[in-house]
Amino acid sequence: MTDLPARRLLLVHAHPDDESINNGATMAKYVAEGALVTLVTCTLGEEGEIIPPGLAHLAADREDTLGPHRIRELAAAMRELGVTDHRFLGGPGRYRDSGMMGLEQNGRPGAFWSADLDEAAGHLVDVIREVRPQVLVTYDPGGGYGHPDHIQAHRVATRAAELAGTADFRPNSSGPHTISKIYWNRVPRTVAEQGFERLRAAGAAFPGVAALDDLPGVVADSEITAAVDGTPYAERKAAAMRAHATQIAVDGPFFALSNNLGQPIFATEFYELVHGRSGAPAGERESDLFAGVDA
Ligand SMILES: [Zn+2]
Repeated sequence: MTDLPARRLLLVHAHPDDESINNGATMAKYVAEGALVTLVTCTLGEEGEIIPPGLAHLAADREDTLGPHRIRELAAAMRELGVTDHRFLGGPGRYRDSGMMGLEQNGRPGAFWSADLDEAAGHLVDVIREVRPQVLVTYDPGGGYGHPDHIQAHRVATRAAELAGTADFRPNSSGPHTISKIYWNRVPRTVAEQGFERLRAAGAAFPGVAALDDLPGVVADSEITAAVDGTPYAERKAAAMRAHATQIAVDGPFFALSNNLGQPIFATEFYELVHGRSGAPAGERESDLFAGVDA
């Protein structure tokens, strides 16, 4: 790619829908501000449970055509956010959804969980050297909530960031690239608590309410180093989530996954800086993931 925009953000996610739930507002905001936003999704989410009864036939244990369907859902979600650069790690279908931890699918040939780390990271190194992001967003080492594909996405993103800057790893014409800042997706505990209070007060149209500990990435407020106010993009985020109709049901500022348990949609998205230098004064949160980055 020539003539890259000045600011470039890379997000690495496990399945289609994770990007909209975690970072939809952040992605829409940076696209609107002229940054290059690149999404790499590691699997097609073939093992996902399906919410609309009319689409139940797509499931892995029936027609096993959920993957191609979710490619289209992701494309529709990215249209809502304005993201034009979205890719699948190694190409669509290269790595398959591993299913929840402990299932036999974890070890199936082609499952992302059983992928060779450096081979998988190598695909991402090519993307990093092409789009040369200053900022990388991914999950914490536990994958936020322990799903094998989320854990593996963390490992692959972390390894690729290291290898992309290593000149003698897969030398190519793009040349090595070092990412300035790496963030993990986070939710501050008090924000999660307030979100669930709003949900209980509003009584959204879901049979139950999720437990706070079911939310990925919830940590003590003191762990949060960046808060991106995506309020102007809240509608776009909700629209992107609705585009993942097999996986997400949206009701106003709330949503549910296939377990039918309501959760708040966060318009402000939170991060923990784990590599690189904060652009905020000591003790303060950043409001911009590119703070302190030289374009
Ligand atoms: Zn996921």
